[in-house]
Amino acid sequence: MSVIELRSDTFTLPTAAMRRAMAEAEVGDDQYGEDPTVNRLEARAAEIVGKEAGVYVGSGMLGNLCGVLSQAQRGEEVILGDLAHIYQNEMGAFTVVGGLSARLVPNHDGLPSLEDIESAIRPLTGSFARTAVVCLENSHNNCGGTVITAAQTKAIADLARARGARVHLDGARIFNAAAALGVDVRELVAPVDTVQFCFSKGLSAPVGSILCGSDETMVKARKVRKLLGGAMRQAGVIAAAAFVALETMRERLVEDHVNARRLAEGLADIRGVRIQPQKVVTNIVAFEIDPARMDAGAFQKACAERGLRLSRYLGNSPRLRAVTHVGVSAADIEKALLIASEVLAGARQPVAAAT
Ligand SMILES: *Cc1c(COP(=O)(O)O)cnc(C)c1O
Repeated sequence: MSVIELRSDTFTLPTAAMRRAMAEAEVGDDQYGEDPTVNRLEARAAEIVGKEAGVYVGSGMLGNLCGVLSQAQRGEEVILGDLAHIYQNEMGAFTVVGGLSARLVPNHDGLPSLEDIESAIRPLTGSFARTAVVCLENSHNNCGGTVITAAQTKAIADLARARGARVHLDGARIFNAAAALGVDVRELVAPVDTVQFCFSKGLSAPVGSILCGSDETMVKARKVRKLLGGAMRQAGVIAAAAFVALETMRERLVEDHVNARRLAEGLADIRGVRIQPQKVVTNIVAFEIDPARMDAGAFQKACAERGLRLSRYLGNSPRLRAVTHVGVSAADIEKALLIASEVLAGARQPVAAAT
């Protein structure tokens, strides 16, 4: 049975060009700063996002952790949207290993409001923990791949800075956001102090992410990476693939967005699916299965048995996620829609009138 893998864009496989680059990579000891391939990747990534320097890390989570911990001291606070990946999906690491506490504000389609952030920032006087960092996420995974504009990012960053806080952007899929908005990634990243993005998602590299920011902050981030056991040696072997990813896989992300939108529109036509297709602007499609018609877990399982793999959002919610990527064609999307409609056609009819 052929499989349509929509659980995540992390299932993308390294391309032949990446494999070749890995085999031929010039390497050295990165902890001595002597891996030329890592150095080249860090310099190029920083240039592309418009920051002074970059630190290559083994995962997006480590990039976020290095970003937050290099800009906050134990006992300080971090402001995050309540659906932020850093808060929901990273084991509370900045609290566990960094001694920082989370102050949550509601996410509205991925964007916390200025008013909520303003009132969450602690005053400098009084018996409060200092607000050290405000975190943003673009595109926003748990909100269904929604994007925030450069102007929205700047408004929040200006506010945070005026109140003495730094801004970290979880830009795991920042190139998807830039493609969706039709802007240069530098515009989206210019207002923030640090940004993390993943090579291992839509860009299809096998391993790694990068944290970018000022020279001064990246010196600190390198220390945090070492402290957490994340420093590597001949990492050029994997950085070589990340370099190819960066140079060759960004332009094609719009294809994934077209496929995601088609999937969303097709799902909207299926009875028992709840979705707002106009909200699908990147490669993530979030939707719900009407619980009166079918349990979301049962739907997910029945689809998987027919070769369509989907993932489930946080907890026990009826929300499911489909993520498009280079391994999914337009024809696969049509097949996926057929499978979804077959599964739901076989579902029990609700006792009350159907929606
Ligand atoms: C995937 C992801 C990360 C973390 O990346 P890992 O490499 O899995 O640690 C961080 N933030 C967001 C929004 C993500 O989607």
